[in-house]
Amino acid sequence: MSLMVNEEKIRPQNLDQFIGQDDLRANLRVYLDAAKTRGQHLDHVLLYGNPGLGKTTLAQIMASELGVNIVSTSGPVLERSADLAAILTNLNKNDLLFIDEIHRMPASVEEILYPAMEDFCLDLIIGQGPGARTVKIELEPFTLVGASTRIGLLTSPLRDRFGVICRLDFYTSEELATIVLRSSRVFNMDITEDGALEIGKRSRGTPRIANRLLRRVRDFAQMAKNKKIDSSIASAALERMDVDSLGLDQMDRKILGCIIKQFSGGPVGVKTLAVACSEEVRTLEDIYEPYLIQCGFLKRTSRGRVVTPRAYKHLRIIRQGLLSVDMEE
Ligand code: ADP
Repeated sequence: MSLMVNEEKIRPQNLDQFIGQDDLRANLRVYLDAAKTRGQHLDHVLLYGNPGLGKTTLAQIMASELGVNIVSTSGPVLERSADLAAILTNLNKNDLLFIDEIHRMPASVEEILYPAMEDFCLDLIIGQGPGARTVKIELEPFTLVGASTRIGLLTSPLRDRFGVICRLDFYTSEELATIVLRSSRVFNMDITEDGALEIGKRSRGTPRIANRLLRRVRDFAQMAKNKKIDSSIASAALERMDVDSLGLDQMDRKILGCIIKQFSGGPVGVKTLAVACSEEVRTLEDIYEPYLIQCGFLKRTSRGRVVTPRAYKHLRIIRQGLLSVDMEE
């Protein structure tokens, strides 16, 4: 509960407080202002990118900038088309409907979304068999904001119905440091710019992780009776949390180590890798791999995952040495 309150407190409230993603932000500003000037709903927006990069935050910002209500739901929650129909018929004019993980919506639910997005109407089938008939229900104009971690899993009819498609990228360490400084002001924490940068560097390019690490570093600083968080306190705390200089945690190193030790550096298929690491395929693909790929430590090839020489260097493992160890075992 208190975590939720904390999350909400540090969430940027308007587009100017939203840090980074400069091109995306500049474009959204134009779309929002144009929609406001016309007094019309904003065109449907699809946001995609890794978890924790700010999709939900942007949806909330869009609603508040437009001065409309936001109704939030998520793909897996919408099990039956009636669930979505109930939400759609309750929307007021120009309201914003946010569907998180939109790629996980069942096909039958997705189908009723097409006419809703295109013509603001619902085609409901009443009854079954030969007596079934279609009833058209008019809807108020609304904006659908869909969020997805995997744009590739969206069907093309759905993807094509979005007027605006935005990709969120990983943040730079400096942008994350700015986010950390902003969050620490909200929490009344004393932190130096170097301390914030140290956290920024180790946050895997992700604001949600930066804010989480900040809270944990604060715990360590508080228990060590340090009033101010500087870079040495931040790095000592992060080491204790097993977060290394590039932000890799135990699981990242386990994945790389597993490919190196058990599969001679790869290639290894993702399903085999998931079993070897006792992790779900989706978690590997959505949470861990994108950052390892971004760091240049892992490659996805047609034959499977391969660890790069850069990763060996980072892990301080000399390939030959390790292989000979494996052979001795
Ligand atoms: P997603 O929906 O992509 O998983 P969220 O929008 O929930 O991510 O963002 C996670 C957290 O990170 C939020 O609590 C928010 O405070 C913070 N955050 C995300 N993007 C930004 C940003 N650009 N500037 C400041 N804080 C951000």
